[in-house]
Amino acid sequence: MTAPPQSPAPADETIVMKFGGTSMKDAATIRRSASIASTTAGAARVVVVVSAMDQVTEMLLELAEAAAGDNPAAVSTLLAAIRDKHVSTAADLGGNAPADTAETLDRLERLALGIAAVGELTPRSRDAVVAFGETLSAPLMAAAMSSVPSAPSCAWFTGRHAGIVTNDHFGRAEPLMDLTLFQVRHTLEPLLARGDRAVVTGFIAATQHGVTTTLGRGGSDYTASILGAALAAREVWIWSDVDGLMTADPRLAPSARLLERITFAEAIEMGQFGAKSMHPLALEPAAEHIIPVRFRNTFNTDSPGTLIVPETPAANTDADHPVRSIPLLKNAAMINISGAAMVGRPGTAAQVFRALGEAAVNVMMISQTVSEAGISLVVSRDHAARAKAVLERTLMRTGSASAVRLLDDVNVVAVVGAGMAGHPGVAARVFSAVARKNINVIAIAQGSSELSISFVVRADQAADAVRTLHEEFVG
Ligand code: ADP
Ligand code: ASP
Ligand code: MG
Repeated sequence: MTAPPQSPAPADETIVMKFGGTSMKDAATIRRSASIASTTAGAARVVVVVSAMDQVTEMLLELAEAAAGDNPAAVSTLLAAIRDKHVSTAADLGGNAPADTAETLDRLERLALGIAAVGELTPRSRDAVVAFGETLSAPLMAAAMSSVPSAPSCAWFTGRHAGIVTNDHFGRAEPLMDLTLFQVRHTLEPLLARGDRAVVTGFIAATQHGVTTTLGRGGSDYTASILGAALAAREVWIWSDVDGLMTADPRLAPSARLLERITFAEAIEMGQFGAKSMHPLALEPAAEHIIPVRFRNTFNTDSPGTLIVPETPAANTDADHPVRSIPLLKNAAMINISGAAMVGRPGTAAQVFRALGEAAVNVMMISQTVSEAGISLVVSRDHAARAKAVLERTLMRTGSASAVRLLDDVNVVAVVGAGMAGHPGVAARVFSAVARKNINVIAIAQGSSELSISFVVRADQAADAVRTLHEEFVG
């Protein structure tokens, strides 16, 4: 393993490292990640955050649906697949892993049977199931870290036991941040001061009453950023299977390049528009506490990765490249609200957002026609049906709108760059380039920060739009 590309951290500083699903694929990959955790941080204290093993979160979500949907054949197939994957990895890694794994798998099996018996899946019980991914992966990582020669001792914690407390918005719970920062410090500081290491499950936490919650998909990055803030870490490193944040998703634009240094504002904007499967709030605790975040590649440790830094004039001087990246948000749905009654009638937008807020639907993009006869919203596809139903109930009842239509196979393409602010002509270039490719733009939005322009296209035209804009702006 090579040395870190920056000056080594002194022994009293902490580096929080998060390993994603692709860095937790099998015993060999987990060993590689454990070795990275043990060797790349120099003398610094290390806290490791882990995701579930690759694909396990998806399997657990399917398991939860199958259990509630009275599909015993799918339940036993999925349970067997989850069991095999973890039992064989635990046997390979040794230490406490086989015993921890067996006990946790038994609990998962009992929970699945319970859900099947009740025949109902609630957001709370779905969280209880999906949390098993990280509860199963953390002891595997702890075993691998303990078997690194002359390694210090290593304990593992669930997010809850590390001190992360949230509200009860199951599926996308929000940390009670002050309490969380205090409790995490209280739990982990003494252990780190003794020279020990900690592995913490990403993504999962609990309410103040101890009920398991999850932070939302991609939430392990969020956990790492929370722990970084709590421990005043020197840096947070997010290890994944690409060299860092790229100018576009390398699977869509093969000429995508590594961004070596970007600001928190740009990275947060990229994450909100789907770059990496990043949780939209993942970087906020680190940004607020000014903890640099570095995205790195588990399979190419020589690459310096992408460093996310606070806003400085020097961070945004690339005047020739106002657009730094072209992220794509998949799994989106657009809701069009229309009706002549909306024209000149104040308060419709307020009604819309109140209703959606109460139904816990997250609105990702908004645009309103100048005539006021229509409002278009983009929401995540899994919230679409709920959003449509709640809007119909609210707006039709009060006569505020006459139609709520759902377009459920759209993507949002964005161009992001701090240099776009005050740089005229970017929008014209964006829309001429996509028009030349006959890509139909369904709706457009620009934030007042001028950090991004985003637009909605049909899902089957989205990859082409990303490639076209990548050629136009990045080359
Ligand atoms: P992990 O499982 O490690 O959390 P994620 O799936 O959350 O990883 O994110 C990594 C993946 O995100 C990469 O494999 C890459 O294909 C995809 N990706 C999409 N857009 C970008 C981007 N702009 N920069 C880097 N990766 C991106
Ligand atoms: N395992 C969770 C997910 O797949 C959290 C994460 O990996 O960040 O969404
Ligand atoms: Mg992820």
